Amino acid sequence: MNRPHMMRRDSLYINGEWVSASGDGVIEVVNPATEEVIGSVPVGSQADVDAAVTAARAAFPDWRTTTCEERIATLNALSAAIKENTEELAQTITAEVGTPIGYSRMAMVGTPRVVARSYAKMLETFEWEEEVRNSLIIKEPIGVCAFITPWNFPLHQIIGKVAPALAAGCTMVLKPSKEAPLNAFLLADIIDEMDLPDGVFNLVSGHGSDVGEYMSSHHDIDMVSFTGSTGAGVRVSQAAAHTVKRVTLELGGKSANVALDDADPQLVGKMAIGACYQNSGQTCSALTRLIIPKSMNDEVCEVISGRIARYTAGDPLDDTTRCGPMVSARQQASVSEYIQSGLDEGATLIAGGMGMPDGLESGFYVKPTVFADVTPDMAIWQEEIFGPVLVITTYESEEEALALANDSIYGLSGGVWSADVERAMAFARGMQTGQVSINGGPFNISAPFGGYKMSGNGRELGLHGLDEFLEIKSIQRPVE
Ligand code: NAD
Repeated sequence: MNRPHMMRRDSLYINGEWVSASGDGVIEVVNPATEEVIGSVPVGSQADVDAAVTAARAAFPDWRTTTCEERIATLNALSAAIKENTEELAQTITAEVGTPIGYSRMAMVGTPRVVARSYAKMLETFEWEEEVRNSLIIKEPIGVCAFITPWNFPLHQIIGKVAPALAAGCTMVLKPSKEAPLNAFLLADIIDEMDLPDGVFNLVSGHGSDVGEYMSSHHDIDMVSFTGSTGAGVRVSQAAAHTVKRVTLELGGKSANVALDDADPQLVGKMAIGACYQNSGQTCSALTRLIIPKSMNDEVCEVISGRIARYTAGDPLDDTTRCGPMVSARQQASVSEYIQSGLDEGATLIAGGMGMPDGLESGFYVKPTVFADVTPDMAIWQEEIFGPVLVITTYESEEEALALANDSIYGLSGGVWSADVERAMAFARGMQTGQVSINGGPFNISAPFGGYKMSGNGRELGLHGLDEFLEIKSIQRPVE
């Protein structure tokens, strides 16, 4: 296989330049399929954050007054550059995260490319001002933003913040995850070659508990946009509270996929696997809880256990692989513990189980796993596993189905299946969650994405995602 070269990065991107980190140490990046170190990035320090914030603050007055045309040109150039570098970005993300290469090209790189372009398009018609009686209401960029991002869809999660922030006229400091930071360094290379003023975009790698918390508590940062686990999101909120900065949080999920009693069991079984297992189950919006009528249980379980073998685990650079490794040894251990807990708590294993997939001896793999007869008191029902583990439960009435769907501290995504789209729509309205897909309705990059309950605050993507980066000012005219 053609694996990318070792990527050792020894500088941070601050004020339009690659500069040495002031701290010591490196974060090593491990390929989860081979367990080999494939690169490293510096451990940034609080002094590096200060330098990046100073640069972003200095760049803000000019960047906020650029015209829409200039920002449209920037966003289109960013999208074009992502496209041009698709292969290198996709290979890098596959090497860092373990995502199968075809999915990396399409989702990990293709989606951010389109998201950047969508914000260019949005600026063409965006209304910055409106009149309400004697008031002029204007929208203004919020200022200097901090972005703290995870590893699972790393470039998408970065561009989902960078693109609307650029569109709004904000400047920014990014701290990528330590598991998958290399794509962020490639993005900084791309931005360095663009015509973006110094200081608008800055990159500081480092540890969440140090650099991330310091950014959250920083007095000269106006907003922190965080994507990651709910626990770390709570820490960000606590660290930010004394500055009263805006905090947006995109957190975890345990989303329900509900088949109503008129749904096609064959289709439900077939589609439930992919909806749970995309990116090897390491997807915040994965539909991990399948809720089906009791009468459908045998048929759906049969379809799923029959099709699971097609979900081949293996080398992510092999085009036939559908399930890559978990991102790290830690993640592999954590997913395995959940599989063991499902066995211990008495759920019925219908596919997968403990241990490595057949034929694999190294890499951080787990077996794509499915449990039936899962009950709401089980940990595998309540907790985010973040791996290829689907749990199935049954219901007898539609009210019970809705109660089961909403039986979660999370509310990020969901699915409903029915022969009657209007009936599914009515059910979707009752779900306490930020997104719902009806009969497999596809992801829409222009629709707001975000969570109810402990899945977060605020929305990304589309117009709602742009609004997060804007302050609103009302100016009252004298009344004659
Ligand atoms: P994580 O919370 O461990 O890390 C996310 C980021 O937060 C990293 O950059 C990390 O360095 C930083 N961080 C960690 N502790 C911090 C602290 N105390 N203060 C500030 N920053 C800190 O999450 P992860 O393992 O990288 O990602 C997986 C999690 O992210 C899952 O729970 C998943 O559901 C969630 N996620 C949510 C969305 C969404 O849009 N809702 C998208 C992707 C992932």
